[in-house]
Amino acid sequence: MRTRWLCAVWLFSVLALTACETVQTTQSGVVGVDRKQTFLVSSDEINQSAVQAYQKVLGDAKQKGELDRDPAQLQRVRAIAARLVPATGAFRQDAPGWKWEVNVISSDEVNAWCMPGGKIAVYSGLINSLHPTDDELATVIGHEIAHALREHSREQVSHQMGQQLLIGVGAAVLGVGDLGQQVAQSLLDVTFNLPHSRTDETEADRIGVELAARAGYDPRAAITLWQKMEKLAGSRPPQWLSTHPDPANRTKDLEVYAQRVYPLYQQAKK
Ligand SMILES: [Zn+2]
Repeated sequence: MRTRWLCAVWLFSVLALTACETVQTTQSGVVGVDRKQTFLVSSDEINQSAVQAYQKVLGDAKQKGELDRDPAQLQRVRAIAARLVPATGAFRQDAPGWKWEVNVISSDEVNAWCMPGGKIAVYSGLINSLHPTDDELATVIGHEIAHALREHSREQVSHQMGQQLLIGVGAAVLGVGDLGQQVAQSLLDVTFNLPHSRTDETEADRIGVELAARAGYDPRAAITLWQKMEKLAGSRPPQWLSTHPDPANRTKDLEVYAQRVYPLYQQAKK
């Protein structure tokens, strides 16, 4: 009896505090990504946390004199992102209108990410270590943007919170105010520490090459970029690899999908 009662309380708490929804966040595109996702946290909650986290990261970098230090590098990264952003409309209509922000952080870390809602950071270490061509850099940024379009962080945070609810921590125990705190902490974990799942990586790879192609960047550059990343991993494992694990068949998959979106690139080049 007691178990059933607890169960009812738990279920009520979950339903009351979180709007559980299963949705299709993106159009499937030429690459055909059509997995449905379940969320326990709203986009608004996640995006709000992302705005704060992004401001914090930029503020810290600025204080250390590491924010947008190289104007040429910043201009290059922003120019590439500016071509990719309109291409996001192929996957979701709202995305081109997001409050996109793009900054370069001076750091030896080989890293790049895009927080929910379009808050992008590229680390100078990635550019200085890999010496990417514009096409290659576009596929990295496209990959990161794809994670944001697919709301992978929101999905990961939802998953974490679901697990906490299951073990009785979280909404059932904490108040609603603490819930916001939890979302913020989870988002930081997801952005900086936790690896994306293989499924998320494959989706980001495929959507990333389509974004690049639509923006007029050679999608095949994703393959050479990965080869450079792997080569570097031998001597000094890039930070990027800890959050973007390498599925065994990544290159093979990229070859197939770069080929599939190649006509989009040719069209965009005209
Ligand atoms: Zn990734």
